[in-house]
Amino acid sequence: MLITATLLGVIVLSMISSFFLYSNISKLQIKHDNVEKILFMRQYQYELLRTTIAFNEAIPSLKAQIGHAGFDDWFNVLWSRTQSINTGIVGSNVLKSGFNYNKLNDALQTIDNTLYKDRNITDDSLKDIQNIFYRLIRDSHLYQQQRDAIYQEVEIEKQKNIFHYYRNSLILSSLTLFFGFIVSSFLYRNTQKLLSMQQQLERMVTKRTLALNDKNVELINEVKERYIVEEQLVKSQSQIEDAKERAVKQLNYDPLTKLASRTLFTDRFNHCLIKAQRTDTKIALLFLDLDRFKHVNDTLGHSVGDELLKKTATRIKDALRQGDTAARFGGDEFAVLLPDISGINHVQIIAQRILKALNTPFILSGHESYISASIGVSLYPADGKTVEQLLRKADNAMYKAKDKGKNTYQFFTHEMEVEANRRRQMETALHAAVKLLDFKLVYQPIINLESGETEGAEALIRWQDKQGQAISPATFIPIAEELGLISKIGSWVLEEACTQAVIWQKACELPLKISVNLSSRQFQNNDLAKLIVNVLAKTGLAPQNLALEITESLLMVDEKQIMQQLKSIRELGVHLAIDDFGTGYSSLSYLKKFPINILKIDRSFIKDLNVDQNDAELVKGILSLAKSLQLSVVAEGVEEKGQLDFLAENGCKHIQGYYFSKPLSSEALITFINAKKAKQLKTAL
Ligand code: C2E
Ligand code: MG
Ligand code: MG
Repeated sequence: MLITATLLGVIVLSMISSFFLYSNISKLQIKHDNVEKILFMRQYQYELLRTTIAFNEAIPSLKAQIGHAGFDDWFNVLWSRTQSINTGIVGSNVLKSGFNYNKLNDALQTIDNTLYKDRNITDDSLKDIQNIFYRLIRDSHLYQQQRDAIYQEVEIEKQKNIFHYYRNSLILSSLTLFFGFIVSSFLYRNTQKLLSMQQQLERMVTKRTLALNDKNVELINEVKERYIVEEQLVKSQSQIEDAKERAVKQLNYDPLTKLASRTLFTDRFNHCLIKAQRTDTKIALLFLDLDRFKHVNDTLGHSVGDELLKKTATRIKDALRQGDTAARFGGDEFAVLLPDISGINHVQIIAQRILKALNTPFILSGHESYISASIGVSLYPADGKTVEQLLRKADNAMYKAKDKGKNTYQFFTHEMEVEANRRRQMETALHAAVKLLDFKLVYQPIINLESGETEGAEALIRWQDKQGQAISPATFIPIAEELGLISKIGSWVLEEACTQAVIWQKACELPLKISVNLSSRQFQNNDLAKLIVNVLAKTGLAPQNLALEITESLLMVDEKQIMQQLKSIRELGVHLAIDDFGTGYSSLSYLKKFPINILKIDRSFIKDLNVDQNDAELVKGILSLAKSLQLSVVAEGVEEKGQLDFLAENGCKHIQGYYFSKPLSSEALITFINAKKAKQLKTAL
């Protein structure tokens, strides 16, 4: 805005200045014209004077009529000059300024007539001509004077104009300079500002450029990284695709046996269900569990267990029709889907075929192993309409098949469902009981036949559900093992039993021994020996007064860890007993290998001792084996005198059974021991 205004100002001033200059120049032109007129008239006056002089000089010769001598030339000059006034540019100006041409022309005409045309040359005519010349000189002088005055005026005017011109020019120049200065300074300031802004901008640009350069480098690196990442992504993508494929396979197939997974099994069932609904046909679901698989896993190791599962899968698949689906649900649980069932008979044939296929011995790590399975069967639509319902019911039926003695199949019945519900309730109740340690221990005396005294007692756990109904440990201990609750129960039993043992020892003044049952699962925790040390330290029980009962199956696990644990326990001075001896499949060589010092003959052999010759022989065999291995033997479940006598005759020193006493409370046990002591004393007396 300011710049525009300033520029406009400069333009206006320049225009004014130009106008002044123009007017002064035109005035100078007028002055120039005046000078020209004056010069013209001076020349004319000179020529007039010269002609007059020439006339005066020529008068004598004129009088003598002998010629005009030099006068003629001057007169001609004057005559032509006079003519030019009327014709030339300067002359016309002279005429305009008031010069009387006609008067002059008339005068010259008169002279010309007198001297050359009329030739009336007399003294008077000469005198007249002289007067004409004098008059002309006077007029010319007057005109000259007039011009000179004008000239003076013009000169003054000229000086004034020059002065004005210079003054105005000076003012204009000053103003122009001033405005120029303002504009320049303004422009300078702005230029400075612009320069500093430019510098600032340049600095910013440099900075930005540097930053951009850095950013560029970063970007380049990023692009490189991206490129690498993208490459990796592409790689990962294909890995992901592979993984997806594997995941889908894993989702649909059991990785170990390559049988269908639960997901695929469910899909196939739903597919068959649609068809069955449309065609009004039946579907059968078989739930299969290997008998004693845990035993194989525990004894022969997990890799052999896996080998068995793979072989089982192949045999099940081979026993099926095309279109049937075999699946593995995990562990040793298998399921079979049989669509298009024409009748129960059909299912029976397939179930029997599977059982038969599994009954053929398996060769596992070079050993011949006998495996059987229990199968539960449920039918669509009779037992349920969804895969979940049918599987649950087949599972219940499978448990029933196991109860029935294993290696068989069982169709689902309503009673099974009731039983399954009961089990679920028990599981919930057991969780709650373990939380509160809501258990009790009872103690069954073990009698030394040689001394007739109570040598110790076995601690047996008791549990009552909310309804006050006693639940057998044979029922709830396996459930506690399955639910992972056994360690907590076992620790409590050990401490409680040892505490009570010390109480009886004091009360009965006898070095009574306590036997505590251990679950194989308790050996999974490596801290078992530590637990025993702590409990002994806490309760003050001597290690030699503690016997731990383990099952044969534990010894069949060829694992260094078990051996190491048993050794550590024996090294403490604690006794180790094999419970239910004879029911397992242990090789007798283990008895030498492991640090065992007591055998407890299972009740099942004692029960029919007097009626079953085989059992009698077996018990005799165990007793002689124990003798040769220097192991002490406890006979369990002795209920009758005959059994007692047989055992006594064959060298069995320790007896446990209802014959002497059922399991007792701690207080009752003390009474029992003291009573027995008193009786012994009485007999001795
Ligand atoms: P077990 O260790 O072999 O215990 C002997 C079982 O035989 C006890 O059953 C006992 O009451 C029973 N019994 C003893 N003498 C006779 C008899 O003359 N006739 C009859 N009919 N039975 C007799 P219980 O107490 O029901 O225990 C069953 C099993 O539960 C035990 O067998 C043992 O394996 C397990 N168990 C009991 N308490 C515990 C425990 O605290 N921890 C662990 N892990 N298992 C336990
Ligand atoms: Mg026992
Ligand atoms: Mg037993």
